[in-house]
Amino acid sequence: MKLAVVGTGYVGLVSGVCFSDLGNEVICVDKDPRKIDTLNRLESPIYEPGLKELIEKNYEENRLKFTTDLSLGVKNSDIIIIAVGTPPLPNGEANLEFIEQVAREIAEEMDSYKVVITKSTVPVGTNERIRDIIKGITSISFDVVSVPEFLREGSAVKDTFNPDRIIIGTESEKAKNILVELHKPLTENIIVTDIRSAEMIKYASNAFLATKISFINEIANICDKVGADVTKVAEGMGFDNRIGKAFLNAGIGYGGSCFPKDTNALVQIAGNANYDFKLLKAVIEVNQNQRFNVLEKLKSSMGSFSGKTVAIWGLAFKPNTDDVRDAPAFEVIDELIKGGATVKAFDPVAMENFKAQMNHPSIVWCNSGIDAAAGSDAICLLTEWNEFKEIDLNAVQGVMKTPVLIDGRNVYSKEQINLTEFKYKSIGRPELVEEKEIVTL
Ligand code: NAD
Repeated sequence: MKLAVVGTGYVGLVSGVCFSDLGNEVICVDKDPRKIDTLNRLESPIYEPGLKELIEKNYEENRLKFTTDLSLGVKNSDIIIIAVGTPPLPNGEANLEFIEQVAREIAEEMDSYKVVITKSTVPVGTNERIRDIIKGITSISFDVVSVPEFLREGSAVKDTFNPDRIIIGTESEKAKNILVELHKPLTENIIVTDIRSAEMIKYASNAFLATKISFINEIANICDKVGADVTKVAEGMGFDNRIGKAFLNAGIGYGGSCFPKDTNALVQIAGNANYDFKLLKAVIEVNQNQRFNVLEKLKSSMGSFSGKTVAIWGLAFKPNTDDVRDAPAFEVIDELIKGGATVKAFDPVAMENFKAQMNHPSIVWCNSGIDAAAGSDAICLLTEWNEFKEIDLNAVQGVMKTPVLIDGRNVYSKEQINLTEFKYKSIGRPELVEEKEIVTL
């Protein structure tokens, strides 16, 4: 099949590249010429495991093209996938400016029947709005279909090739048949529904996952007070098939470009329909507070931040990505600096993206975890990169001023910590806290 993908971000680029790998001819379009230049040099503008290799392979086999020319994409394809951003407005609602602009541009270039897919996450009713925009500009026939995306950054290629399900929201039999054919190689779990339900499935799924995270974080906070171990509690809960193991890892809460944005947007969608989504509001509040949990633990271990040096391990909102959108590290570092601390920051791949948004004279950018730890009074682990999981804690301890470790992601075991002198605190595992005197090394 012939496809155009508009927007070469985390969703559009990965989808386009994976569809080309399945044998389709794909033209990826982006308005950002730097991204397209990077892609035409066969480099990936984003860090996503396995992506660069697939870009090279499919480009060389002539199935994959990159351009800023939307007209080229539209005229040479039967299916057009919209995957531009829907960032939050100040009131939490999704900003549909980019979506609407793309809809107008597609309509202006259409020369034959097209299936226009919306992969961007959009509020209920948006696909109808896209349809009306296109209809207002062209008399050529087309169908608009909602196919929400569920990939996770950090495993986006794997998720695209192995989706749990594909949702196709359409009223058109013709579009349904084309899209079932397109997605058949990926999974048998293809659910065809009306457009509004498809749009809601995406928000409801993200809101539910966010709820699981905030739920286990609240349980962790209670575990801290009553002397239970949240990792054991989560394990015990997770074996119950009705609950499931996923998204029960206590930590410093969710970040990223999706959960914070989509939970806020769903609260707004509900509010616009005169419904007060109390549960989701609480989920958002719990998540916001959880970011500061590590700071409280840090403060209780080292007292005031003033004049102290704190190593931050991890800036990306989660491992295996360079995405720092709504990463907890921004607020944690901001509070440390406000408290008078110097921050030594390190992330294996997200340093440049982070630096572009937060560059303060009190932040020292480091080359490794151990470099960040050198001379520091404490370490705060915010992202569970493998590199931190596998680090030699005794070597790290040896270069620090005082061995204090706040583990915001419950990465280390009791056995690992017991082999060190670290004064260690994690999330919801109070039995791991031993009253160690801080030894100045
Ligand atoms: P992104 O910001 O990484 O990429 C968006 C791209 O669209 C940018 O490269 C931008 O230059 C391009 N763009 C904007 N306007 C354009 C136009 N008029 N013409 C051509 N290109 C244009 O965004 P993303 O993270 O890929 O997310 C895209 C959508 O998918 C959002 O609605 C998001 O909520 C949703 N989504 C994201 C994820 C994720 O993990 N990132 C997962 C599922 C769904």
